[in-house]
Amino acid sequence: MTGRYPGEVDVAVVGSGPAGAAWARTLHENAPDLRVAVFEVGPVLSAPPGDHVKNIADPQARRRAQRASEGPAAEADGEQPPATVDGRRGRPGTFLLGDGFAAGGTGLPVGAMSSNVGGMGAHWTCACPRPGGTERIGFVEDLDDLLDEAERLLGVSAQALADAPLAGEVRRLLGAALDADRPADRRVQPMPLAVRRDDAGRAHWSGPSVVLGDVLERGVALHPETLVERVLREGNGAVRGIAVRDRRDGTTAEVAARTVVVAADALRTPQLLFASGVRPPALGRYLNDQPQVLLAVRLPNEVLAGDGAEDHGDASTAARTAIDGSSGVSWVPFDDDRHPFHGQVMQMDASPVPRPDLPADRPGAYVGLGWFVAKDVRAQDRVEFDETATDDYGMPAPRVHYELTDVDAERLAAARSAITTAAHALGRLIDDEPIELPAGSSLHYQGTTRMGRSDDGTSVCDVNGEVWGVPGLFVAGNGLIPTETACNPTLTTVALAVGGARHVAKTLAHATLDRKDGS
Ligand code: FAD
Repeated sequence: MTGRYPGEVDVAVVGSGPAGAAWARTLHENAPDLRVAVFEVGPVLSAPPGDHVKNIADPQARRRAQRASEGPAAEADGEQPPATVDGRRGRPGTFLLGDGFAAGGTGLPVGAMSSNVGGMGAHWTCACPRPGGTERIGFVEDLDDLLDEAERLLGVSAQALADAPLAGEVRRLLGAALDADRPADRRVQPMPLAVRRDDAGRAHWSGPSVVLGDVLERGVALHPETLVERVLREGNGAVRGIAVRDRRDGTTAEVAARTVVVAADALRTPQLLFASGVRPPALGRYLNDQPQVLLAVRLPNEVLAGDGAEDHGDASTAARTAIDGSSGVSWVPFDDDRHPFHGQVMQMDASPVPRPDLPADRPGAYVGLGWFVAKDVRAQDRVEFDETATDDYGMPAPRVHYELTDVDAERLAAARSAITTAAHALGRLIDDEPIELPAGSSLHYQGTTRMGRSDDGTSVCDVNGEVWGVPGLFVAGNGLIPTETACNPTLTTVALAVGGARHVAKTLAHATLDRKDGS
């Protein structure tokens, strides 16, 4: 032991969001003898560690948990609203990139991160659509099997909130307008969500605590408030461990590890590799933030009048039919031929992008549509790191070069038209035209540690997440996704983490057996 850290583990996982949690769970389930430890720069917010903050009933306690996730600048000040930096405002539970947010082009003005046990996975909206068509990573041969397992780990259900008031009507209207000629699995449907209902009908949102299951009680160690500063390597380049800084007292330590998995989000995973001298040509490149357009509509009075939400029977029905932060989300799937956008439709009362400008009306009257667009992915859109300047943690400061292209402009124009068609099918438009959100709004940054079939300079890692040329170093998270996706990435990220962890569990378990046998 060095201070509160072990001297040696088999696998050190950096980051405790959905990707790190999926690695830890899968390693433990497949090779229970492996010594696995998770190192997380942020604090524990809740019990169990990594729970979703929406499950914290008391609003002030919830706000304190969000604030504790908003990075070093917010650590000491309790319940303040998210900081506004130069007119840029972050979402609760996140904090914005520093002054390097636009080193070239538009950059990502609202590019953000979360620092807490659970990462952004303690704050997310829990939408878990499966990728379709060209969104899918063709060379991941067992992708559907991995997606099945990811749905199990995240507790995904399309039915948990499907009976929310008005949601059925919303889907009926959208389906009538948009479903013609779509394959059955790409029709308008309830959004698969990482949510379960308890016996009283209350929604429980899956954070990484759900992904972890009981592995923290079964021997997987969690080290919160621990900054991993570097991945340590042997002279031949292979991994030998990590260098950490205890954020409680500033002391440093080294932890030996046979395998290191960096699951530190799509902006900070490349940061840690850069800080460790691991700098393959594709590192930080192909940065992808899905552009997004929004429109709000008011449902027609006859639709509102036809809803049975007033008729609450028992407590369970009342919990199911209240319009609140857990109301139904509908999905208009991505479809290459007819609709190359990912559509999310939800009651404005429940929207993660609030619209305080809307006039008061009966609950559920307003419906928000959000259409995500697949970015034209290019190598020059990138996050670089400064050799001399540092961020608030003392790590190399990020510098973002990012721009939408002419192709993106065309795709956005088509998305505006598609969302307007969908909105007209639902009711009266509230906005004159679709609102385009600033770059960084998706919170779905991808591509910066992308996976590839071969080490041809356009990818950072192989299909298991192992970094080319650095045996024992794995990466995880949305940064691995190489395709132009419009859908939310976390389900895919968890699936890829499962694939990598199964591979490592098998490899290390064999090595351990060989050692025991003396062979
Ligand atoms: P994260 O969850 O970001 O976790 C990374 C962790 O690494 C963090 O806890 C961080 O503190 C830690 N870390 C970073 N650097 C270091 C270091 N050097 N040392 C130690 N620890 C470090 N996605 C969807 O698919 N569907 C949605 O509906 C959705 N809605 C969202 C809504 C909101 C408001 C937000 C904020 C996000 C949403 N997302 C959604 C995105 C989703 O949360 C992310 O895709 C997901 O959390 C990524 O998982 P991850 O484990 O790769 O990264």
